Amino acid sequence: MAESLPPTRPRIPGSGLAKGLAVTLRTMTKKTVTAQYPDAQPDLPPRTRGVIGLFEENCTVCMLCARECPDWCIYIDSHKETVPPAAPGGRERSRNVLDRFAIDFSLCMYCGICIEVCPFDALFWSPEFEYAETDIRDLTHERDKLREWMWTVPAPPALDPAAEEPKEVAAARKTAEKLAAQQEAAAPQPAQPTEPAEPAGTEPHAAEQARAAERPTRPMGESKQQTDLPQQQTDLPPQEGQE
Ligand code: SF4
Ligand code: SF4
Repeated sequence: MAESLPPTRPRIPGSGLAKGLAVTLRTMTKKTVTAQYPDAQPDLPPRTRGVIGLFEENCTVCMLCARECPDWCIYIDSHKETVPPAAPGGRERSRNVLDRFAIDFSLCMYCGICIEVCPFDALFWSPEFEYAETDIRDLTHERDKLREWMWTVPAPPALDPAAEEPKEVAAARKTAEKLAAQQEAAAPQPAQPTEPAEPAGTEPHAAEQARAAERPTRPMGESKQQTDLPQQQTDLPPQEGQE
């Protein structure tokens, strides 16, 4: 036996149109969030993972990034070069020279492991994202392109002023202070200024000061005339007719 359907409310003609217009009016009054790309470039946050830039001067071809990449999409070629000894009688040394550094961005999953493990700060995230290609094979980018992207890497954020001083900075500052102290100690001392000689016939300055200290000083409020009177005049007995 079929269940009876609930009764439906009678539809008001034009109610759907009114609802649609209400949605349109509500949206028109809200602030727009649509970015008109590519006419307007998006304002990306500084830690955007767009593409990987290579600072090849820092790369020592240690191969750590290629070994740790989970997708095996970093290709590095290098050769060894013999470097002459730094001092006569020293040993010759060998160093790695980078021949090829490429990343296949069709395989890369932007995990950032290669950037994290690089011990020499040679890899950085760049917010650049406009490198789409029509052929997937063109997504393997060589060292020149990776180096170009390096210049789009934003500057690192400013240090926290309350943060602890990094160990290497503290060590460098201590060394600089020690060197400055050594240089100051080794510098010749400036000559002490000599006192001008007393002209012949005048008394020494110290003796003059000693005599001035022994001289009686006039008390406050006493006139010069009073102090200059001889003591015996003040001690004379009063004359006749005087009290
Ligand atoms: S981001 Fe991840 S997947 Fe891409 S190259 Fe680096 S390690 Fe490999
Ligand atoms: S880990 Fe860094 S230094 Fe080592 S090969 Fe990769 S980019 Fe170069």
